[in-house]
Amino acid sequence: MKVFIATGNKKKIDEIKPLLKDFEVLSIADGINIPEVEENSDTFEGNSQKKALEIAKFLNMVAIADDSGLMVDALEGEPGVYSARYAGENANDSDNNKKLIQNLKGIGNRKAKFGSVITVAKPNGEVHSFRGEVEGLILDEARGNSGFGYDPYFYYVAYGKTFAELELSEKNAISHRARALSKMKKEIKDILKTEN
Ligand code: IMP
Repeated sequence: MKVFIATGNKKKIDEIKPLLKDFEVLSIADGINIPEVEENSDTFEGNSQKKALEIAKFLNMVAIADDSGLMVDALEGEPGVYSARYAGENANDSDNNKKLIQNLKGIGNRKAKFGSVITVAKPNGEVHSFRGEVEGLILDEARGNSGFGYDPYFYYVAYGKTFAELELSEKNAISHRARALSKMKKEIKDILKTEN
């Protein structure tokens, strides 16, 4: 079963690929160019569906997209869908993390969760979305060098480690993205049974 991972984020590709072992997975890492999709929805579902659908139509191939982000209780769910550009349009992970820690200064409630919406889209316009979440706490100091985004500050209590201190396989056992993909995998045969 051939699917295209519709993202320009190589770190996401690295995470998603081992979770789709039964598929022939293609991505920009195979030299296939895709247009940039404007993420102008205010929901993960909206952006995820837009990315998957535009790329499925562009490549005439089944596409899988992830839209994800961090939701912090004390910040009323921020940065949410704006996670990638929290500190501004051209912000990088370090800028975003700096702003997050600044905004949480002196705040005791450190509860947060990552959310991911995975969408499977077919060139015929059909879309199917699946949501995964994982809870954690935001630390003041970065720990670990793996992963990306807010991982060095996202502390997973059950493991006593931040996401950036986990092996890829450990993160992939519990992450929001892995949980959404696991729901998708239960449905994918039915989804792809009908014409594209
Ligand atoms: P997207 O490309 O619009 O889905 O942006 C997702 C953003 O959310 C990333 O740039 C990160 O800032 C954050 N994010 C999503 N998933 C993760 C994760 O697994 N670890 C750390 N940060 C994440």
